Amino acid sequence: MKKIILIVIALFGLISIVVDQRTNLLIYLMTTEGLPDLLEPKDEGDEVRWFDDYYTIQKIDERTFAIGEPRYYQLNFNYLIIGDTRAVIFDAGTGQRDIRRVVESLTSLPITFIPSHLHYDHIGNEVIFEKTALVDLPHLRKRAIDNKLPLTRYEHLGEVEGYPLPEIKVSEWLAPNETIDLGGRLLMVLYTPGHTEDSISLFDKESGYLFSGDFLYPGELYGFLPNSNMGDYLQGAETIESLGEMSLRVFGAHRDDTIGMPELNLEHVIRLRDALIDIHSGKLKSNGIYPVSYKVDERVELLSEPKWLQDWDPIYPELNLKKN
Ligand SMILES: [Zn+2]
Repeated sequence: MKKIILIVIALFGLISIVVDQRTNLLIYLMTTEGLPDLLEPKDEGDEVRWFDDYYTIQKIDERTFAIGEPRYYQLNFNYLIIGDTRAVIFDAGTGQRDIRRVVESLTSLPITFIPSHLHYDHIGNEVIFEKTALVDLPHLRKRAIDNKLPLTRYEHLGEVEGYPLPEIKVSEWLAPNETIDLGGRLLMVLYTPGHTEDSISLFDKESGYLFSGDFLYPGELYGFLPNSNMGDYLQGAETIESLGEMSLRVFGAHRDDTIGMPELNLEHVIRLRDALIDIHSGKLKSNGIYPVSYKVDERVELLSEPKWLQDWDPIYPELNLKKN
């Protein structure tokens, strides 16, 4: 009997160590040996032109461009949003190629860089923009001394591809749900956490565009990372849905194995919200072991931790637009 109790205690100890250390284990498993090899370029279709051997440009309209990285294995997409007096580049890839050359080929206006969130594959790392605007959240603001924000290991995750932890020089803090004026063009900063607790989307109401970062794109959404939170994900979906923009065009930051930029619509947002409600209630069942996968619809899957490890308490529930 005593032996059985000891084995149970040892097993329990082992499980709690694995649970406790799962993030480090995950980072270890994701770590590549140096920079990952580039994919072979493929035919990206008539609407896409290659800027060089790495970047592609796809025009959404005269003032809006998707800048793709279809040879990087994560298939990133960054967006240039141009107004009359200034322009925003939303995400900047890993910085293994300098995106500023692409941006400067499309506009001569002053550029502000806005990252959708702080993961290494969006912040450009060593590529420094003249101006960087960051979402103003208490947990970030309190760490920024003289407007310099040193990123933490879990916030950045760059060690998986060998990027050192950067410090972001913030020239402008963006209050969640505030509107940025680009001169004749307004962008609303939507707080859409879930993938990470600092994730934002940009909403151009007049054009009906939503630039959704890693919150939503076709393929597998990552809701199992260190700063992911399922309650946050639901909050983000509710916030987007509360815009009431029926003909919303949703431009994500990664794509699946299709060609061209990743585009979804409001239906996907609503199905994501419904899936989250059903995951919470236990109605929607998962596949796999870790991370588990939930099918949202034909184009979107949500990866998360197993039900018993999921966190459903939003970090900033007061920023949910639906509840305001
Ligand atoms: Zn990310």
